[in-house]
Amino acid sequence: MHDPILGIRDLDAFYGDFQALYGLDLHVDAGEVLAIIGANGAGKTTLLRSIAGLMKNGAEQVRYRGQPIGALRADQIAALGIALVPEGRQLFPSLSVEENLMIGGRTGRKGPWSLDAVYNLFPILEERKAQASTSLSGGQQQMVAIGRALMANPDLILFDEISLGLAPIIIKDIYAALPGIVGEGMSAVIVEQDITKALSVSSRVYCLQEGRVSLEGASDALSREDISRAYFGIA
Ligand code: ATP
Repeated sequence: MHDPILGIRDLDAFYGDFQALYGLDLHVDAGEVLAIIGANGAGKTTLLRSIAGLMKNGAEQVRYRGQPIGALRADQIAALGIALVPEGRQLFPSLSVEENLMIGGRTGRKGPWSLDAVYNLFPILEERKAQASTSLSGGQQQMVAIGRALMANPDLILFDEISLGLAPIIIKDIYAALPGIVGEGMSAVIVEQDITKALSVSSRVYCLQEGRVSLEGASDALSREDISRAYFGIA
């Protein structure tokens, strides 16, 4: 048994009066790739935002390495070693590729990831390093978003729908890079719409439905029927 690197207990999340998450319990084991699946609006992005310090949580609702972090700000959480690759990439449009990558390095954390290491992982980014990030294709921008998160040398990396809107060949490239990313003990949480993909890259999976966990299990042990029921609420 590993100790979990991240523990979530009885997590609620609100946008104004609207409740998006209801009493979620979940954990991430050290060194694992955990997948989060669920239909549009199930609360997957909200869950990642809660971990990354972008929602208002109670301190005890999110624990990282045994410490309560639920009430910390996003920059404090980044400094502790949790990095988010947000949905829609959210790059700084007026900055170059390299400048966007450098922003991730601002946490000052030490580790294997540097500009050279990111360029080694995604060589196209070195060719384009002086270009405005907006001049890149969607897939290349996604690589910048991943590289920026890696530059923070996180211990836990959160990917929100990395393949959304990308060509299959690019998705293949990005997923091919995943073992190199989560090697060396890094843990990862992956939100992924493509269930087959989610199951193939992860060791465990949680399915969310309307803000609640509807299914949890080992990725190689869940049946299609279980997943359909948990995903859509039908058998
Ligand atoms: P998607 O695949 O569409 O991104 P998701 O599972 O990531 O879905 P969330 O984005 O977490 O779901 O949204 C959960 C619920 O919270 C949805 O009902 C959504 O409409 C609502 N929601 C998300 N962001 C906001 C916001 N800024 N203000 C109000 N409601 C929001």
